[in-house]
Amino acid sequence: MDEGTIGRTLAEWGEKPFRARQIAEAKRAGARTWDDVTTLSKPLRQRLAAVGPLWSVTPDERLTSRDGTVKWRLMLGDGRLVEAVLIAHAQGRRTLCVSSQVGCALACRFCATGSMGFGRDLDANEIVEQGLIARHAAEQDGARLSNVVFMGMGEPMQNLPAVLEACAAFHAEEGLGISARSIAISTAGWVPGIEALSRHPLPVRLALSLHAADDQTRGRLMPINARYPIANVLAACRRYCDRTGRRVFIEYLLLDGVNDSAADARNLAALLRDGRFHVNLIEYNPTDGGYVASPVGRRETFVNALANAGIDASVRRSRGADVDAACGQLAARGPSPGPSGPVGPRRT
Ligand code: SAH
Repeated sequence: MDEGTIGRTLAEWGEKPFRARQIAEAKRAGARTWDDVTTLSKPLRQRLAAVGPLWSVTPDERLTSRDGTVKWRLMLGDGRLVEAVLIAHAQGRRTLCVSSQVGCALACRFCATGSMGFGRDLDANEIVEQGLIARHAAEQDGARLSNVVFMGMGEPMQNLPAVLEACAAFHAEEGLGISARSIAISTAGWVPGIEALSRHPLPVRLALSLHAADDQTRGRLMPINARYPIANVLAACRRYCDRTGRRVFIEYLLLDGVNDSAADARNLAALLRDGRFHVNLIEYNPTDGGYVASPVGRRETFVNALANAGIDASVRRSRGADVDAACGQLAARGPSPGPSGPVGPRRT
């Protein structure tokens, strides 16, 4: 149950406001059901249980990769499934990769989530609870949840109000206390969302999944390019930079023989010449899309070509691939007792 509903319900019943804090603390300490919230009287717990479950999101399966990456399959109240991934870094830091939708409408050819079709938007509380689950797991490991990236299932810009509400909770001191600069929203290039984010007061970061330096190649990889071609998306990113003073991360997946030639590197450098971008070259993680990752040598050549052209670039190593927890591999496969199937695309 989300905090708003809890607060309103308790107020209606004439309960003291600190009851809501007790519930939040119990969730933080690992309470799974209302019965675990032992700071409340039994009758109050029973009354609350009749309104709705303590959690809107329940871990259904937890897999740990050889590199320490944890992937949860999470069940929502209506039986649908999403995934969240917690990535371990040095110095006890952890990054959570959250989902913002069940499935995705954008059908990027290289992405497992894209092949599922669109299910529904998550509400803010369903996103926030992914953060609570991750924080608890990090703390149990003696680590700290320091970063959140919206790079799980879904296109966050198509669910921006809920995503921003969740960002505010991640950021809030009484929420997860994560610095806004350590929260990143990644988009396939949904221009209205980029515009809205550029005017939003919370200074969260923007990442653009570009993946190609010409419209023909990008159009083949990402159907959204027909609606928002490269020039339009980069113009929106530049407006974001101008309004916020923050650089934009460019995500670029290196696909063997598709977008990784010397000419591709030159074209990419030309597009990003004005220094307002940082390029993350991403290792392709196998999905059913039929693509192959660029060989290591070509990846090195590509990153050097960008560096020589004065473009800031780094290679982002893949994590969690052995449990399908890496970028683009999230598809929440497996049996589900509820109506978890996608219901087809929308809003494109
Ligand atoms: N819809 C958003 C966020 C989800 S994808 C977006 O497109 O940005 C998060 C990142 O993973 C994106 O950069 C996406 O392009 C990348 N990705 C998708 N499939 C991948 C794959 N198979 N291997 C590696 N990265 C992938």
